[in-house]
Amino acid sequence: MLGAAGRMGRAIREAAEAMQVPLTGGVDRDGAVFGEFADVAALAVGTEVLIDFSTPDALARHLDVARVDGGAIVIGTTGLTPEHQRLIDVAAKDVAVLQAANTSLGVNLLAALVQQAAARLGSDWDIEVLEMHHRHKADAPSGTALLLGQAAADGRGIELAPVQHDRTGKREEGAIGFASLRGGSVAGDHLVVLASEGERIELGHRAESRAIFARGALKAAQWLHGKPAGRYSMADVLGL
Ligand code: NAD
Repeated sequence: MLGAAGRMGRAIREAAEAMQVPLTGGVDRDGAVFGEFADVAALAVGTEVLIDFSTPDALARHLDVARVDGGAIVIGTTGLTPEHQRLIDVAAKDVAVLQAANTSLGVNLLAALVQQAAARLGSDWDIEVLEMHHRHKADAPSGTALLLGQAAADGRGIELAPVQHDRTGKREEGAIGFASLRGGSVAGDHLVVLASEGERIELGHRAESRAIFARGALKAAQWLHGKPAGRYSMADVLGL
């Protein structure tokens, strides 16, 4: 477990106990959190699957140790840039990598529904993605909001970046908008609104605790174990 002292690190440790998944060790920025390991490189030796819920700055190092030691890696960290995505693509040539901005069954099913809705509705239906998270969250819009926006763009058969609406200026037809709220202890609320003249469809998901992400991450790790090098997603794990 990489980022073991964090909120998700703690949730994954709890879920692993309940699911009887053997977590051999956890490291954070300053070294071992549990297990006898000096650092991430020492932890990776002999580890079958690494689970990373830390920070984008640590990603390159975590991919390197996964490649060197040949184990697989699940990446749950969000706030990743196109450069991080490129590093993941390169690493996936040598090692099995599963990157997921959201590891819950519900959100991944929601993404499939959003893709389907966007595919069937014309660009006169405006698509807006709203999200709310706890006050400590570092990145915005959330990785999950971007995942849902990407699903809508996939449904329309277009790239997300050119139509991503940043909330300043007038809304263009075909734009996919994002709005973020931060406060309290919200584990993660997402709502995708498809709005046309005189009617609206709202597709949403509310995470009641981090346990859903933790269980999903462990399921992903179990599924990824023994897979050949390549890039995988939660849709593969969940058979969506
Ligand atoms: P957090 O800030 O509570 O925990 C992150 C931990 O990573 C901290 O303990 C920090 O010290 C540690 N860290 C920083 N640099 C490190 C390094 N170089 N090596 C090892 N550890 C390092 O955050 P969190 O709420 O636990 O979330 C962690 C990440 O997971 C965020 O990017 C968050 O958005 C994402 N997240 C993803 C999902 C999902 O389903 N994929 C769900 C929830 C959160």
